[in-house]
Amino acid sequence: MSRTYLGMPAFPRAAAVTTQDTRLRANLTRATHSIRDKRAAAVAELEDWARLRDAGKHIKDRTLRHLDHYLLQAERAVTAAGGVVHWAADAAEANRIVADLVKAKGEREVVKVKSMATQEIGLNQALAAEGITAYETDLAELIVQLGDDLPSHILVPAIHRNREEIRQIFTGSMGRWGKPAPEGLSDDPADLAEAARSHLREKFLNAKVAVSGANFLIAETGTLVVVESEGNGRMCLTLPETLISVVGIEKVIPTVRDLEVFLQLLPRSSTAERMNPYTSTWTGTTDGDGPSEFHLVLLDNGRTDTLADEIGRQALRCIRCSACLNVCPVYERAGGHAYGSPYPGPIGAILTPQLRGVRGEVDASLPYASSLCGACYEVCPVAIDIPEVLVHLRERVAEQSKGHRVERAVVRAASRLLDRPALYTAAARAAARTRRLHPRRLPFPGPARAWSRARDLPEVAPRPFRDWWTGERGGHRAEDATPDTPEDTR
Ligand code: SF4
Repeated sequence: MSRTYLGMPAFPRAAAVTTQDTRLRANLTRATHSIRDKRAAAVAELEDWARLRDAGKHIKDRTLRHLDHYLLQAERAVTAAGGVVHWAADAAEANRIVADLVKAKGEREVVKVKSMATQEIGLNQALAAEGITAYETDLAELIVQLGDDLPSHILVPAIHRNREEIRQIFTGSMGRWGKPAPEGLSDDPADLAEAARSHLREKFLNAKVAVSGANFLIAETGTLVVVESEGNGRMCLTLPETLISVVGIEKVIPTVRDLEVFLQLLPRSSTAERMNPYTSTWTGTTDGDGPSEFHLVLLDNGRTDTLADEIGRQALRCIRCSACLNVCPVYERAGGHAYGSPYPGPIGAILTPQLRGVRGEVDASLPYASSLCGACYEVCPVAIDIPEVLVHLRERVAEQSKGHRVERAVVRAASRLLDRPALYTAAARAAARTRRLHPRRLPFPGPARAWSRARDLPEVAPRPFRDWWTGERGGHRAEDATPDTPEDTR
C-alpha cells in the first residue's frame, strides 16, 4: 500500500531536506526543462492562444457562478442514461460510498485509472482498510505504487525517478503485486514499458470493478471525459463490468461544445501535444458495450467553501495540466513531496490550503512556498492568477496567527518609535551619525544565523530624510507641501 501525506512536515522543513537531494534535483530539472520548452513551442503554433485561454477562463467562471444549476443538470442526464449519482460531502463519505459499492459486487480488487480526486481523498488506503486492493494502471502511478512512494507531479507522478530507479522498482516489486518483471530487465524505456504492459494486462483482464476520475463532466449530456497518453485508462473504462468515477464538482462544464476549447488548451499545456492520443467519453451505460453498471461520485471536500471565496475560487478553474509546476523555480528545487499533498507546485500551494483550510501547520506554510515570480500565471491555460491567490491566502494565514515572538517584539518596538515623532527623529539622527559603525549583517546566533548571514543590512543615509527635506524646502515642513485641495492635485 502506498504511503500517505499525513504527518509530513510543513513546507520549509520538508524543502530543506529535498533541496539537498542532488539526484532528485537533477531528475526534476531535466524533466521540467524539457517539457516546458516543448510546451512553449506547442503553444506558439496557435495564433489564437490568448483568445482560447480567455475562452477557457470564461467558460469555467460562468460554470462556477451557476455550479448548482449545472450539477443538477448533470445528475439528471447521468441518471437518464442509466448511471447512478452519489453526492459526497467529504473524503470519508466518498471513500465509504466506493468501498460499499465494491463490496456489494463481492470483489476484493479494483483497477484504477489515474485520478487526482482519489489521491486527494486517500481512496487506496481507505479501500485497503476494508480489505480491498486498488491496482494503479497509469504507468507513472504504477511506478509510484510499486515503489511504496507518493506522487510528486500532477501529470507525471514519478517525475522524481530516473530510468535506473524505475528498473530497480520493477524488478524488486512487480512480483509482489502480480506478474513479475522479466529476467534481466534493462532500463531502456521500451523494455520498461513492455514490462509494465504485460504486468497490467493481467489486471485488466481479471478486474470486475474499475475506479476512475474524469477531466470533464458535461452537464447537458451527463458525459464524462478522460484524456490520456497511454490507453491504460481506456482499458479501465471499458473492460470491467462496474465503473465507479470519482469526480470533483468543479469538473463540470455546460456543453459538448465547450469541450472544443479545453481539448485544445489541455494537451498543449500538459504534454505539449497538439492532441492527446486517447480521449475517452462515456455516458451512463449501454447494453453490450462497456461496463453494465456505472456510478458517479460527485465530490465536494472543501470545494463549496473555496467557491465562496471571491479571490480564491479561481483555483477551481484548474484543468490539472501541470504547466505551472514545470515553470516554477520553487517546485523545480523542492520537488512535489515537499508540498505534503497530492497537489504540488503552484496550484497545490493555493488549492490545498483552500480545500483543507489553513489551520494545520502544513497548509498554513503552503501559501509561502512561492517566490511570487508570476511564471505560473503566465503559462496557466485558464489564466488563474496564482500569485494573487497566494498573497490573499498569506493574509488569511497572518490573520489567524499570533506571529513569532521575535516578530511581535520588533513590531511593538517599531510602533512605539513611530508613535513618538521626537523620539523617531532622535533615533534617525543617531543612526545617521553612527552609520560607519553599523555591521554589514545582523550577527544573529543559532538557527537565525542562516537568515541573517544571507542578508545585507540596508545602508543608512548620511542625513535623515526629514532633515534633508527641511533644508531643501527652506525650513518648510513636509506637511506644508502636501496638497490639500482637489485643484492642487490636478
Ligand atoms: S493552475 Fe493552471 S497551469 Fe497549473 S495545473 Fe491548473 S490549469 Fe494548469
